[in-house]
Amino acid sequence: MSSFLSDGLARNYLAGTWAEGDRGACIAVEDPGTAEHFTDAAQAGEVTLARALEAARTSVERGDLADMQPSARGRMLLRVAAEMRAIAYEGAEILCRESGKSLSAAQDEFEEAAQYFEYYGGVADKIEGKSIPLGPDYADYTVLEPYGVSAQIVPWNFPVSIAARSLAPSMAAGNATIIKSPELDPVALALLGRALERAEVPAGAVSILNGIGSDLGARLVSSGDVDQIVFTGSVRTGQAILRAAADAVTPSLMELGGKSAAVVFEDANLDTLMTSLQSGVFYNAGQVCSAMARVLVHRSIYEEVVARAAALAEGLHIGHGLQNPDHTPVISAAQLNRVEALTLAARQVGARVAAGGTRLNRPGHFMAPTILADVDPTARVAQEEIFGPVTCMTPFDTEGEAISIANGTEFGLVAGIFTRDLARSHRVARQLRAGQVFVNEWFAGGISTPFGGVGKSGFGREKGLEALNNYVRTKNIAISLKG
Ligand code: NAD
Repeated sequence: MSSFLSDGLARNYLAGTWAEGDRGACIAVEDPGTAEHFTDAAQAGEVTLARALEAARTSVERGDLADMQPSARGRMLLRVAAEMRAIAYEGAEILCRESGKSLSAAQDEFEEAAQYFEYYGGVADKIEGKSIPLGPDYADYTVLEPYGVSAQIVPWNFPVSIAARSLAPSMAAGNATIIKSPELDPVALALLGRALERAEVPAGAVSILNGIGSDLGARLVSSGDVDQIVFTGSVRTGQAILRAAADAVTPSLMELGGKSAAVVFEDANLDTLMTSLQSGVFYNAGQVCSAMARVLVHRSIYEEVVARAAALAEGLHIGHGLQNPDHTPVISAAQLNRVEALTLAARQVGARVAAGGTRLNRPGHFMAPTILADVDPTARVAQEEIFGPVTCMTPFDTEGEAISIANGTEFGLVAGIFTRDLARSHRVARQLRAGQVFVNEWFAGGISTPFGGVGKSGFGREKGLEALNNYVRTKNIAISLKG
């Protein structure tokens, strides 16, 4: 057992202290690989939230981060990056146990989180305004100010790296931040508090609270005492948060779901495609907002691609995350029920099961790696986010038809193109309705490339320099020099 969980309880990181839950309440955390109890997290409620809000506001008023020398702020973020690497071994095992993901994916997640702190540490002293020419009688310039208190709500699929993705630029810009961790796997994220503590981040500048979405999350976004909301999660929750944000006119960033399509042309390199398909469909058991949820294939190579994808799915090594298999469980029984039900419904409307199709008969929440072929693009399974190890394959005949099917959902997070034709890749990329387009490699790009959606996939961009725009607001200072 890790030292962080020596008494079996992950506490709230509350303004530089470690706090029990309200009236001793706890969230039971399960191991999805066994469906058995793993540990408990102290559950924050109204009382703990009030303390975090007060501490954050005090930190803003003191100017803890905003008034720190920007280069010192940058060095502080670099220390957080180093501390994240120092806790990665312990943290990855916790994350693996509570989320079901493989140990190596959990290690990657801690490394990615460290890289966010490094990246935004490097830009903390380069957040520059501009001067605007108004002629000799005026001086005019802009300053980029932090919002104040940033409320950040994190999903369970990548709790540590998604939290770092928003927290690092928020701190770099000088905001105080309150994070609400996901109730299904809050523990590894709570451990981030230890990295913040060891990096000597001022108490109150960051709190990480464990709580239930409909309770703590809803209270946080409707408290009227936050200056900005950053939400990553489902469309339905995003809509509820936007309604609450509307009442207080709180600026919000929405990183929501997807139903992203890869378009595979007849000249695609199919070895490359299969490598991308394995990560795009099956990484983290498909619980990825930017998963390759649909694969549109030119009819001339369609059956070959279906057969190769099915063989790949059937060849995956399945196991508990600690064994570092290719394929891991989904997060919960509810998630497994939903994934399986959508898959069964697809069969009833004519989809062909080329691989998988049902849950696996073993302990834990395992869905078989699933390839559905001949999927009608208007079917529910091709329109709704599944968030599991399932993809939908559909043939197409022309470029125009492929683009129209790819763009034919209410989402628009990412899209992919597989072709050796350079001109076609640029032409099609421009026409795809998505915030990011991958060519010949799913998940190409990284922490420095802007990411976000169109349509119901949300608005605003995370990652890269672009993300800083979310965490500052522009003030213009216009000075008359006329005396
Ligand atoms: P979810 O919407 O159920 O929960 C996300 C977070 O919101 C959790 O912390 C939850 O506790 C909280 N929450 C729930 N109800 C709330 C409320 N009423 N008020 C405030 N907070 C509330 O989503 P999930 O199931 O945790 O995550 C999966 C979803 O997240 C998928 O749709 C996926 O596509 C999306 N996602 C998007 C991105 C992206 O960057 N676009 C990244 C990862 C996941």
